[in-house]
Amino acid sequence: MGGSARAVRANAPAEGKKRVLEVHGSEVDVVNRVLEHRPGLKPVETYETQIKCAVETRLPTPFGEFRLRAYENEIDDLTHLALLMGEPEGKDDVLVRVHSACLTGDALHSLRCDCGHQLRAAMERVASEGEGVIVYMQQEGRGIGLLNKMKAYHLQDEGFDTVEANQRLGLAPDLRDYGIGAQILKELGLKRIRLLTNNLTKVVGLRGFGLEISERVPIEIEPNGHNERYLKTKREKLNHVFEKY
Ligand SMILES: [Zn+2]
Repeated sequence: MGGSARAVRANAPAEGKKRVLEVHGSEVDVVNRVLEHRPGLKPVETYETQIKCAVETRLPTPFGEFRLRAYENEIDDLTHLALLMGEPEGKDDVLVRVHSACLTGDALHSLRCDCGHQLRAAMERVASEGEGVIVYMQQEGRGIGLLNKMKAYHLQDEGFDTVEANQRLGLAPDLRDYGIGAQILKELGLKRIRLLTNNLTKVVGLRGFGLEISERVPIEIEPNGHNERYLKTKREKLNHVFEKY
């Protein structure tokens, strides 16, 4: 298993979009890494859809009213979500965030990471444009699960960084995959998006799964005393770009 040699056609980066052109790394590498962990997953260009919207509801929030869609899929047992504002379906250059669930950051206001801030910033940004999509992937702790994430936090309390902690637990540093997220975006009729992220691997991963990223829109928060080392590790070891510091 793993190491699929499946060829993946990369999208040509949009011309004149400086932020996208910063991206390096290979779509094929990222997609193959994802497929090692998700052997059943199909790149978007070739798929039969493996996801289905099961239900849509209204979601009023302090940032405005979203439409919340819940998806069933054939790949894992998780319920992935999409928050939509406006009528983004089928449009080009819609503002999109693909957010990985972080219970401690998103719901418990943890300052150990920047997830909660990024989620709120993405909701605010989408609300300010009046239109956009936030895909909310239930892949806690960059895919390692809540319990493993807390074990990794315990190791970090003892001095290891986030990548070293995962390695000590025998876990790959980043198990997230963007294939399901890409399929959700395709289901919404989105082919070319403006992606809110600091994570170049995410740009490359979504491209590898068949989406065109016309612009990378940075989503930066001010570091605090608790997450400075975490952000530094993200920059140095996990292909993130921060322009403020
Ligand atoms: Zn987090």
